[in-house]
Amino acid sequence: MTNNKGRLCGCRCGDTTAGGRFLPGHDAKIVPQLEADHGSMLDFWAWYEEAMKGQEPSKRC
Ligand SMILES: [Zn+2]
Repeated sequence: MTNNKGRLCGCRCGDTTAGGRFLPGHDAKIVPQLEADHGSMLDFWAWYEEAMKGQEPSKRC
């Protein structure tokens, strides 16, 4: 009777959600997680821009 596929929580806590991207409240963990991984949000952003180089920019307007 269980009908949840389950999917890994986006904050990488290793738990499985009922189908959403995050367990309840865990979406708030992703910013501190990124800061921990990259040093700061600025470092994350620099990394992100580097990673996105050469990609089609998403259309705005
Ligand atoms: Zn989580």
